[in-house]
Amino acid sequence: MSTLKIRQFPCLSDNYGFLIHDPESGETIALDTPDADAYLTEAEAAGWTITQIWNTHHHFDHAGGNAALKAATGATITAPGYDRHRISPVDRYVEDGDTVSLGKHVANVLYTPGHTMGHIVYHFGVEKTAFVGDTLFALGCGRLFEGTPDDMWRSLLRLRQWPDDTLLYCAHEYTQANAAFALSVDPANAALNAYADEVSILRAQNRPTIPTTMAREKAANPFLRADDAGLAEYIGMPGAGPVEVFAEIRGRKDRF
Ligand code: ZN
Ligand code: FE
Repeated sequence: MSTLKIRQFPCLSDNYGFLIHDPESGETIALDTPDADAYLTEAEAAGWTITQIWNTHHHFDHAGGNAALKAATGATITAPGYDRHRISPVDRYVEDGDTVSLGKHVANVLYTPGHTMGHIVYHFGVEKTAFVGDTLFALGCGRLFEGTPDDMWRSLLRLRQWPDDTLLYCAHEYTQANAAFALSVDPANAALNAYADEVSILRAQNRPTIPTTMAREKAANPFLRADDAGLAEYIGMPGAGPVEVFAEIRGRKDRF
């Protein structure tokens, strides 16, 4: 079975664009559309033709290029049904549990409310590869524009069930700032310290920190560790429940 070919490239100020290509079928997905021109340039450089667009959520830096990219390529657009009134144009609306395909490769759609209520992620289970938009970042998570801490914690718990070696493609290069915050709430975490050092080196060389893996995020991302007793104790909330701890660290991150 052929495997997915993924091209990742910077878009706008700190987004990543992703093209996902299946050599067998010749199909190519534009994962979100922060900047139609950047996607077209990248596709041309790769010799790929964009046949589908998959949106994660309605924000401009994820769906703002839909119309231009569809006009240029005729690609079909898949988007969350929840965002029916605020993403356009769209050919197929998807719900939690639906599957979408790239040739023979199948991705599961999971609703991950929190950053927005209609946010979805795309998980290729066989390929252990996921596109997580603005739900999960390397060493961070999306800001809660629409959902509650309880919504986001539940969403992150669903992702945390994925295998450790799942590759996670996050939509923004926020990792260095996230590392500084993570160290403020979990300074004794050896995995986090090692990860933060690696991130500093990569960023000093202007190299991406994305994709990350579930293993390293489980070990070091404070937003996946809200049920860790040591973290709760360090931030002065010994014995507190995970949603309370999550709400506290999300709030601290907003003010950091
Ligand atoms: Zn967003
Ligand atoms: Fe975004």
